[in-house]
Amino acid sequence: MSPPDDTSLRELASIARAVLAFQGELGLTGLDVPATLLRRGAPTRPGAQPAAKAAPASTATPVSAAPVSAAPAPDQARREAAAAVMGFAGAPPSPRRPAPPRSLPAADRNLSPELRAVRDELGDCTRCKLHKGRTHLVFGVGNPQARLMFVGEGPGRDEDLQGEPFVGAAGQLLDRMIKAMGLSRAEVYIGNIVKCRPPQNRDPEPDEVAACEGFLKAQIRAVKPEALVALGRIAAQTLLRDPTPVSRLRGQWREYEGVPLMPTFHPAYLLRNAADKRLVWADLQAVMARLGLAVPPKST
Ligand code: SF4
Repeated sequence: MSPPDDTSLRELASIARAVLAFQGELGLTGLDVPATLLRRGAPTRPGAQPAAKAAPASTATPVSAAPVSAAPAPDQARREAAAAVMGFAGAPPSPRRPAPPRSLPAADRNLSPELRAVRDELGDCTRCKLHKGRTHLVFGVGNPQARLMFVGEGPGRDEDLQGEPFVGAAGQLLDRMIKAMGLSRAEVYIGNIVKCRPPQNRDPEPDEVAACEGFLKAQIRAVKPEALVALGRIAAQTLLRDPTPVSRLRGQWREYEGVPLMPTFHPAYLLRNAADKRLVWADLQAVMARLGLAVPPKST
């Protein structure tokens, strides 16, 4: 075996810092940095684009570079692809066929063909009343071939402004949680049940979930993750059709659309209840074990 080069050592040091930083947040000490976290290829399905080469959505082409008129009109082949991935082949087009979006957030660029078909079908969606108050429709972000997908309930203020899920303080905590798993934001996929911000961050209403959930299912079919993590009460209870408190749902494997799902607390909740980070870390370690990722040993 050849000795690690400087790049590998720097990468290992970066992973170690991320793990230690999050474990520091948890109040854990004495943990060894898992050497097997060097297996950076593990999180990505064989044949997928290496994460190190995947451009983060935030560094993609500027939003302003996308004139409306430049967006190609969906032709028959694209409509058929959309119908296939949406799972409603043969369904008539919406009577209020959405117009192309005026501008695309960075996260909506560089999508896989399957995700592009879903995004095109959403268009400038007006299928529920949440469209009235949105700045951006927040579609999703991450590796289109991710092995792991996080699902939240819906965009908040920061997400609505930037068009990308989990970018505020809670999103930064989620990023640290992902790093502590030995992964990066670019290696996982992150989405929400509803794509538009509910007013005053209220819970999405049943008609809004009903209008939008099909697009989340289509995203899951497009990405084909091996595991889902439902972040928070609304995501867990809505996806599972189970009103059990998330404090009792968390930590137990369930299933959604045929994909194993781990419910856990929302990062925003953890910002207010730091003591429960330990519980979330236990849930994430279960996810890591399921995906065959190195699980850091428990503290002594
Ligand atoms: Fe459309 Fe979903 Fe936004 Fe409602 S929340 S307007 S269904 S994209």
